[in-house]
Amino acid sequence: LVSRKKHPENTLVEVNGQNIGDGKPHFVFGPCAVESYEQVAQVARHLQQKGLKLLRGGAYKPRTSPYDFQGLGVEGLKILKQVSREYNLAVISEIVNPADIEMAEEYLDVIQIGARNMQNFELLKAAGQASKPILLKRGIAATIEEFINAAEYIMSQGNGNIILCERGIRTYEKATRNTLDITAVPILKQETHLPVMVDVTHSTGRRDLLIPAAKAALAIGADGVMAEVHPDPAVALSDSAQQMNLKQFDHFFNEITATSFVR
Ligand code: PEP
Ligand code: MN
Repeated sequence: LVSRKKHPENTLVEVNGQNIGDGKPHFVFGPCAVESYEQVAQVARHLQQKGLKLLRGGAYKPRTSPYDFQGLGVEGLKILKQVSREYNLAVISEIVNPADIEMAEEYLDVIQIGARNMQNFELLKAAGQASKPILLKRGIAATIEEFINAAEYIMSQGNGNIILCERGIRTYEKATRNTLDITAVPILKQETHLPVMVDVTHSTGRRDLLIPAAKAALAIGADGVMAEVHPDPAVALSDSAQQMNLKQFDHFFNEITATSFVR
């Protein structure tokens, strides 16, 4: 169902007046995790002032260590909903439990499935029955074929509003947190009709690489870029080393929107 051979036209995923997949770049920014109303609202205000439409923030955080901050759960979703109304931003957040998908539809505009859950088939099936678009991240060690099959799981249940998101894969290279597989973007665009975004924060894990990685993503044909922004990354409860503060974000956003990328 996701194959471009069967369906040559691009799928457009409509979110808050944006048609993701229309050939223009779309942006998803926001903190790694929802920590408080004020923290999310500060970022939301900043994004709204720039005319941006999509806000991210994790409420259920699949952390590598059980002792790390696990997210605010449904309280986090409520904060996102409130901020979404106040700032006219669509909100995107990860859901990790199939049983929470239905509940999450009340709070979220886009449901994210994270890298660690790309092959959680029960979660994929539940997402396939949701009425909201799904942002599906590539698994930490998933091949492109496995990634496409995960999208197929969702679509086979009836939900065709899927955004694929390359977020780096695990290799032997240690200079970056993950290895950004940049050619996955044109391959996914050729093989499927779905929009493809690139998460520059989790792929690089390095603030100094966010601008070149985002430029590369747009130049190679990505439909959008995701990056993490926090009012004060030094005190962030997760991904403190790679989130941008608002000033760094201004520079990042100016840089990546200054060039028009030839497709
Ligand atoms: C995230 O986007 O919050 C996240 C945890 O990313 P990933 O699933 O790609 O690691
Ligand atoms: Mn993060």
